Amino acid sequence: MTTAGSARRRYAVLSGGYGGARFLQGLLHLLGPDAEVTVVANTADDMWVHGLKVCPDLDTVMYTLGGGLDTERGWGRRDESWLIKEELAAYQVEPTWFGLGDRDVATHLVRTQMLEAGYPLSAVTDALCRRWDPGVRLLPMSDDRVETHIAVDDPQSPSGRRVVHFQEYWVRLRAAVPARAVVVVGLDRATPAPGVVEAIRAADVVLLPPSNPVVSIGTVLGVSGVREALREGPAPVVGLSPIVAGRHVRGMAAQLLTTLGVDVSAAGVAEHYGARSRGGVLDGWLVDTADVGSVARLEEAGIRSAAVPLMMTGVEETAAMARAALELVGP
Ligand code: GDP
Ligand code: CA
Repeated sequence: MTTAGSARRRYAVLSGGYGGARFLQGLLHLLGPDAEVTVVANTADDMWVHGLKVCPDLDTVMYTLGGGLDTERGWGRRDESWLIKEELAAYQVEPTWFGLGDRDVATHLVRTQMLEAGYPLSAVTDALCRRWDPGVRLLPMSDDRVETHIAVDDPQSPSGRRVVHFQEYWVRLRAAVPARAVVVVGLDRATPAPGVVEAIRAADVVLLPPSNPVVSIGTVLGVSGVREALREGPAPVVGLSPIVAGRHVRGMAAQLLTTLGVDVSAAGVAEHYGARSRGGVLDGWLVDTADVGSVARLEEAGIRSAAVPLMMTGVEETAAMARAALELVGP
């Protein structure tokens, strides 16, 4: 290593939306400008609405790190107005449960126009990030169309079930009905976007933020070659639990873990990912101090573990979580 450039440490982070983006804010605060961070974001929440390609997790990361997020709502643009949504509602156009703000529509018009001109999603994301300058290299997990669908009960249907897009399960149904199955359409054929496998293999550390283990990290790991890159790459892989004291902090991870038959606990999620030494992906796993009792069980399962406060209440607290994660697997 002779040049300053090659001495920069490289980090690869697999991410969903809210939890991943909040974690990245803390990580960037900790690392400062000299680190090279590549984010591989989940795109299985994506959908087409009113002719527009919506990429919730990519946009949440881009807006959060670029200073454009509505932090109260946790998604979409700040200083937003909703005239387009009102006009669509006046036409009674479905889906009425899904709304894009006026500023946000501009992002979606640019994205959709570029996709229709033939650019892959990774190139489009790169172009959008030129405006937002998120301080990371943001990659979609895949340029291929992948969509998470959820099977729910439907007495009207001959099969007794109906499948809805993940966004409909979350936004319209509020994840208030049981998820009978999680079906990730297209995942079996999806190939990683350019740079994804390379970034993981070139990383000094791979981080799994406290993102949803099923519909965020789970889908990224399901893209062909990603799990292998984590398992076979030189970098240690360390994660942080999205489950604290047996509950998700926000969202619907508990419902979906239950659907998969995974124990809704910090240790249950870690065992679901598995120890790298035993066929899984994890070298290290942080649990919240409330779950200190599971550290011994995880060490037994071959996963280095520690308990620290894991609530992302502010950027300093989140930076401390990132530091603890790096120290857990550090030299
Ligand atoms: P989404 O795509 O917007 O759902 O966001 P992610 O998948 O990236 O993150 C959602 C997960 O973040 C949920 O399962 C939450 O439990 C978790 N989460 C949110 N806030 C916190 C926090 O402060 N601490 C921890 N440990 N987990 C959190
Ligand atoms: Ca998401």
